[in-house]
Amino acid sequence: MHSQITTIVTIFITAGVLNLYLSLHVLIKRHHYTKIIYLFMVYTALIAVYCFAAGFGLLATSLEEVKIWTFFQYIGIATTPPLGLLLIAQYLGFHITKKTFLVMLAIPMITLVMVATNDLHHFHYKIFEFDAVLGKPYIYQEIGLWYSIHGAFTFGSMLVAFFLLLFHWKETDKIYRPQLIALMGSQFIPMTMALIYSLGLTPRGFDPVPAVLVISSALFLWAIRSSSLFRNMPVAKDRIFNSINDGVIVLDSQHRLIEFNQACSQMFPKLKRSMLGMRYQDAWDLLMETPMPYTLTATATSQEVWLAETGRTYQVRLSALQQSNHQDGLVLIFNDITELKDLQLKLERLAYYDELTQIYNRRAFFDQCMHLYIEAKEQNSHLTVMLMDIDYFKKVNDTYGHAVGDLVLTHVAQVCKSQLTDKALFARYGGEEFVLALPNTSIVEAETLANQICQAVAGTPLVADGLVVATTISVGLAEITIEEEGTLYQLLNAADKALYNAKRNGRNCVYRAILK
Ligand code: GH3
Ligand code: MG
Ligand code: MG
Repeated sequence: MHSQITTIVTIFITAGVLNLYLSLHVLIKRHHYTKIIYLFMVYTALIAVYCFAAGFGLLATSLEEVKIWTFFQYIGIATTPPLGLLLIAQYLGFHITKKTFLVMLAIPMITLVMVATNDLHHFHYKIFEFDAVLGKPYIYQEIGLWYSIHGAFTFGSMLVAFFLLLFHWKETDKIYRPQLIALMGSQFIPMTMALIYSLGLTPRGFDPVPAVLVISSALFLWAIRSSSLFRNMPVAKDRIFNSINDGVIVLDSQHRLIEFNQACSQMFPKLKRSMLGMRYQDAWDLLMETPMPYTLTATATSQEVWLAETGRTYQVRLSALQQSNHQDGLVLIFNDITELKDLQLKLERLAYYDELTQIYNRRAFFDQCMHLYIEAKEQNSHLTVMLMDIDYFKKVNDTYGHAVGDLVLTHVAQVCKSQLTDKALFARYGGEEFVLALPNTSIVEAETLANQICQAVAGTPLVADGLVVATTISVGLAEITIEEEGTLYQLLNAADKALYNAKRNGRNCVYRAILK
């Protein structure tokens, strides 16, 4: 065998072995890497096929054998440049959908069919035969139309990959720039060689691309080994992203869904990875029946959202994804605050409601009545307060026990409440006493209401556990006086004095405060 051929075959086979080694290496260690490594595995395996086929092709003795090895070469030649582009795009953080993937592989598939069936149409090679001058195993070829299309696509893929890397130079952290250079080299070198070959500048019949793929492979190998190119950062970022308890959704500049974390999948079980690439609004409509309750603009403030579908409350924060001074998308963070909200409501209830009767407590009454009082003073409007006290309540306790006494208290509170409108401020004042503040109500109007309440209480005894417990209440009324200076406490004091008079004068009746 010619020593030059031996050398070339050795180089091709070495490149094949190196690529195969890379592919197997990452196959064994795939658990240490992110998903990107599967693509890399296929990529290097296909380069290996290309290299081996190129080597064996040179050892072939018949034209038929050469054609078969040429077809095997094309399995690598046609597919690896677009795969390399996809690999680099993915490495740079672009999201690759299945559709993009299939579109990118369409031309390579046609090329394979063209090569396999070339004898029928000669679209790929017009002429493909042993070189008359150089002899076997060198091939003389004239390229056909499809060869040009395939060549442009192959070259274009590598060129785009190269420029993608170049455009990411600025954004790439300094420590990852050597890897960027290595990857650029892995594209640039075969690209240059392919160009030289297609311009006919290499020795006739010698395709240098498989040979330089040794260098490409070495660059890939170095990049992986030296910097954990595919390992540390993407894995670390993935881990961090998925360990966040908040649901995180990333949108691109067109508000399309490009990523979400595990917490998000748990929050919204219908959210599937197949929705990636979909417009966020469309994805939302698929996930939820509730219309999207927030606007997709990054603001400093967060928005609180209750979703009927999940029955939970979320605090949604939106922030802009800034890259090289231009807004590149949005990050939505969903913080499930349901428990916090429940706790807040519970605390509010505890602070403002009476545990037994479930109406406002004294503190809530003073907080709110103070506002009513100030408002009435400012606007010269009516405000009447009413103190109500259950008659002979001690007797109820003594006769039926404290538990029944509690039931009576709750019952009386409910009867009183049933006579009131929403604007009335009704609360348990303490013990068996209740208080009522009536804004925009004169003492005359309030007296009518008070009599009505008295009658309701007297006419609605408590019926519980076979017992019928009848009670009555006494009421004292006082109205705010516009002319005089005074305080809410003085007003309540006046009502208390009126209540005392009601008690003294027979109970189950209503008394007004005597105006000075
Ligand atoms: P009067 O007609 O003069 O108002 O007589 P009264 O017996 O209602 O008044 P008094 O102030 O002597 O008694 C009030 C009783 O209310 C005393 C207290 O034990 C009882 N009481 C206060 N708070 C509660 C409560 O939360 N539950 C029960 N069961 N009893 C209560
Ligand atoms: Mg009392
Ligand atoms: Mg009483």
